[in-house]
Amino acid sequence: MLRGMIMRDGKLKRSEREMEKMVPEEEIVIVGGGIAGLATAVALQRVGIRALVLERSDGLRATGAALGLFPNAWRALDALGVAHKLTAVYAVRKKAYVTDVATGAVQEVSLMGNNSDGPITVHRKALLESLAEELPRNSIRFSSKPISIEAQGQEGPYAIRLEDGTVITTKVLIGCDGVNSFVARKLGLTQPVNSGRSALVALAVFPEGHGVREDVQQFVDVGKRGGIVPLNDKEIYWFLTFNTPKGEAMTGDPEQIQKQVIENYAKDFPPIYAEVVRHCDLSTLNLAPLRLRLPWDLIFGNVSKGNMTVAGDAMHPMTPDLGQGGCSALEDAVVLGRHIGKSFIDNRRLVPGADG
Ligand SMILES: Cc1cc2nc3c(=O)[nH]c(=O)nc-3n(C[C@H](O)[C@H](O)[C@H](O)COP(=O)(O)OP(=O)(O)OC[C@H]3O[C@@H](n4cnc5c(N)ncnc54)[C@H](O)[C@@H]3O)c2cc1C
Repeated sequence: MLRGMIMRDGKLKRSEREMEKMVPEEEIVIVGGGIAGLATAVALQRVGIRALVLERSDGLRATGAALGLFPNAWRALDALGVAHKLTAVYAVRKKAYVTDVATGAVQEVSLMGNNSDGPITVHRKALLESLAEELPRNSIRFSSKPISIEAQGQEGPYAIRLEDGTVITTKVLIGCDGVNSFVARKLGLTQPVNSGRSALVALAVFPEGHGVREDVQQFVDVGKRGGIVPLNDKEIYWFLTFNTPKGEAMTGDPEQIQKQVIENYAKDFPPIYAEVVRHCDLSTLNLAPLRLRLPWDLIFGNVSKGNMTVAGDAMHPMTPDLGQGGCSALEDAVVLGRHIGKSFIDNRRLVPGADG
């Protein structure tokens, strides 16, 4: 029961409004309906456990246009029973051509691993939708942002109060709420640090077809790296990472950002890059500082306490240099699903503190 709602004589002092909004206890609540949150809910669903996902946005939030998924992610998506939906639509990228902007030298790099598997770049929206459609109706509660989390004992349960006044209680709480995780703060994890770099990502759209080779192309210059990856015949995912300028930060206006990339940041890149940026769908453009949690803060910090834990960027935010943040989030989901599922199978119910 909710601490602070019980009077000295043991009687409940919940207001009628709170009584009305009280939702029955959940087995598992996941805060955040991004890659980690949805994938964890699917992993739990596969072992017969329903989880409730609380997402603060009013719909699936696909900020970041697209992302490259490496073979470890595809193994996780396969385990979740979702991979086939995406591999039917998106192609493996076998090679990358890396241009040294200063010298013009181009290096061909094979992206294929030992098992002839390589990365596939997908629309974020497609990934989120293919996960979400595996979940039963009403598994995702949108416009739901926790403002407080209260543990009722060492190992829970947890009372989660939402912005709209609703209180949800749960035996297990998994924070998949991204780099600024509320749940990570509750666990006492240190805040992620700034890497000193920023990233721009967006989609470029060519209604008549782009005719660009299907391989990944990267352009490397002092303090910046750009890239283009065709998603299909008409859309190209493009990105730029760069040292965050001191003082003269990029403006938040997408048109101005596009202009600055073409005229300033990427002015020395081969012309194909500017051509792609000119075709940018500005509604997909996202500019963000790159932040990470230092490894020792993770090793020596509490990534779980009782039956509360974090996954994905909420646990290990990283820069996108290796393209592994989303991939690791998918791996986290499979591991959590297996461990929590084992607790259910061994005990025929979820035992707080058991192998979860
Ligand atoms: C520029 C860039 C390029 C990248 N490229 C790649 C790549 O190519 N490959 C790759 O694997 N990774 C890539 N990444 C990393 C990847 O985007 C992240 O690791 C991944 O999105 C993490 O997923 P997540 O679900 O943990 O967090 P998020 O995707 O951030 O999702 C968190 C969700 O939680 C919700 N939320 C946040 N706070 C709350 C709250 N308080 N209450 C309720 N809901 C909340 C958010 O609305 C969001 O839906 C890239 C990252 C950047 C910045």
